[in-house]
Amino acid sequence: MPRIDDLLRQGRTWSFEFFPPKTEDGAREFEVAVRELAGLDPSYVSVTYGALGGVRHLTRDIVLRVNAEYAFPVMPHLTCVGHRHAEIASLLGTYRDGGVENILALAGDPRDDADEGDFRYATDLVELIRATGDFAVGVAAFPEVHPRSRDRASDRRRLADKLALADFGLSQFFFDAEHYRVMMEELADLDCDTPVVPGVMPFTSVAGTRRMAAVNGTEIPADLARRMDAVADDPEATRRLGVEVAAELVARLIELGAPGIHLYAMNRAASIRDIYAALGR
Ligand code: FAD
Repeated sequence: MPRIDDLLRQGRTWSFEFFPPKTEDGAREFEVAVRELAGLDPSYVSVTYGALGGVRHLTRDIVLRVNAEYAFPVMPHLTCVGHRHAEIASLLGTYRDGGVENILALAGDPRDDADEGDFRYATDLVELIRATGDFAVGVAAFPEVHPRSRDRASDRRRLADKLALADFGLSQFFFDAEHYRVMMEELADLDCDTPVVPGVMPFTSVAGTRRMAAVNGTEIPADLARRMDAVADDPEATRRLGVEVAAELVARLIELGAPGIHLYAMNRAASIRDIYAALGR
């Protein structure tokens, strides 16, 4: 299976993000979406990692199966906070033996009631991954600054240091391309030239998007907020607006020279297909 750093060197990547389903209906939806989106020939896909105990094995099982069944590489997200070294080392060994070559290394969010574990920051995990096997390693980037960061300057310094240890970055979603452009400029000023692939979320729910944006510190520009208000009660109109906004954003990110486009498919194919159609792909 190809490594994502090699793919990025060859040209712009197009990738999709899934989450591990927890119900039988969800599992059926996931299978249909992966099969349909495989037809769009993605460079790779990624599968998020449930930070809560008890669902972590779902990501592993799905990643190993889809990676073996399809022609594109599957990258597991992996969070380290609350984990023990031995647990993560064992999971990395399973991934390596299963032919997985790419890992997205994340801190995850600390929980008050959880075991502290052996890791504090994503960089601790990157170090363990490097010591365990020959993986291509991605890390998270926050164009609008990570919500736990003290200030912008220290956020950018930490991000540049983290990207220097990694092979590529993948960004949090955002709605204004300026945030991505400015982040890349600030990273370049810190002599960081690791590629950062922007994450684009075609939303399907206005309330859900507002909630997620609040948690992540994502700005919803005033004009978009008005367009969202106008469709909030109509699920199909909301989905279509999500597609329109995502397609506009992708077009701008391509103008800015983004090294890849990572689309949050959220286990559904329809919006991704519509974005491709809007872009004439
Ligand atoms: P870090 O890089 O460790 O940064 C966290 C904070 O610590 C930042 O404020 C940073 O500036 C600061 N920091 C870093 N190093 C140091 C240091 N040495 N000293 C002091 N401060 C430091 N979560 C999930 O649970 N599952 C997922 O599948 C998942 N997928 C994601 C995918 C993407 C693309 C993104 C952007 C996020 C994802 N997340 C996921 C969320 C992520 O786990 C959280 O946002 C988490 O709070 C931060 O993770 P990180 O890897 O960026 O952390």
